[in-house]
Amino acid sequence: MPDSVITEQLAINKDRLSRHMKQLSEYGRLGETGVCRPTLSPVEKEAFGKVAEWMEEAGMTVRLDNFGNLIGRKDGKDPDAPVVMTGSHIDSQPAGGRFDGTVGVLSSIEAVHTMSEKGIIPDRPIEVVSFCDEEGWRFGKGLFGSRGITGNLEAGELDRKDADGITRRQALREFGCDPDKIPESRFSPESIHSFLELHIEQGPLLEKADQPAGIVTGIAGPIWLTVKVKGFAGHAGTVPMAMRQDALVGASEMIVAFHEIVKEDPEGTTVGTVGELNVSGASRNVIPEEVAFTIDLRDIDLDRRNRCEELLRESFQRIAEKYHLKVDITEDQNTKPSYCSPWIQDIIDSESQALGLNAPTMMSGAFHDALVMSSLCDYGMIFVRCREGISHNPKEYASDDDLAVGAELLYRTLLRLAGDS
Ligand SMILES: [Zn+2]
Repeated sequence: MPDSVITEQLAINKDRLSRHMKQLSEYGRLGETGVCRPTLSPVEKEAFGKVAEWMEEAGMTVRLDNFGNLIGRKDGKDPDAPVVMTGSHIDSQPAGGRFDGTVGVLSSIEAVHTMSEKGIIPDRPIEVVSFCDEEGWRFGKGLFGSRGITGNLEAGELDRKDADGITRRQALREFGCDPDKIPESRFSPESIHSFLELHIEQGPLLEKADQPAGIVTGIAGPIWLTVKVKGFAGHAGTVPMAMRQDALVGASEMIVAFHEIVKEDPEGTTVGTVGELNVSGASRNVIPEEVAFTIDLRDIDLDRRNRCEELLRESFQRIAEKYHLKVDITEDQNTKPSYCSPWIQDIIDSESQALGLNAPTMMSGAFHDALVMSSLCDYGMIFVRCREGISHNPKEYASDDDLAVGAELLYRTLLRLAGDS
């Protein structure tokens, strides 16, 4: 714990938070430190049962909505006032860690538990949420619960299937939700005051700054594309070089061109990644006919992101012509970036200073449920330092001390958002 934040300053119960973190990591434990907790799975259901128990202990009434979100509610002095929502998710990557998402849910419960112990009834109601399917790998599309309550689902989402052919509709039903009644679980902009999420940073900046917590300024929304390059197959030994339509050669040049386009950005906040490459019918003595690869392109500045996308489309077309190939680009996901509400950033900042912290401001390159919530209400985010910036991996680690500081900052910010007159 940093010297500036002495244990006596903590209103929250650090031991209880650490204990809950440890207990939750047993649900879907993978090896020593990993977690596999797929969305809407039996193990997530068991974990939800434990989380619901903790919500009740913290003085909340608990419900599972029809999007598969687990929500605990602490009433405020004015029961009809718009709700202050806080939370994150507890589903994990197939080989994920113990901290991604869970720190936000359990810190939020700890904050409300502290309020209840102190006899604090906030002016506005507070709801702690564990969102359904943030990670998105089971049904190929994430942020389901937050997109659900904000009215951002697309047609056909309930018919998406997992690797075993189970539809999301079926999985929701088995989980205890009624997918036919999902409109009832939607929030209106009038019903929600603000949203606050605490999350591990998943990057190296806080460690570099030697600070336990940071203030998020905005979330860089990604665009996901699939690029298919089509050429003509042939025998690797018999087709002369001048006559080839090698899809892999074209795709390779496209990937390098994309890298250069993204790097050229003078502000340096654009990031681009080709994370998957697939050569159909690959064989060492066949000229590749069809290659597909993915693009993940992000920036907090939408104009700049759009400009990069335009440049890559032009460039890919030119490269395809050069090698006599066809290129086809489809958009899989397009999430707009968004800035955190300045007034909430100011609250987090003043509370962190009151705690003796020097919390740096930073952009989030990873997307979060908070980004979706921004379509409905003002929002803010707090980051907690994680070791070497590693996440989506069993090696993910954040210290109990840092989590306590983050939870304290969340608690104080929540009190300001919900009002304590
Ligand atoms: Zn997460």
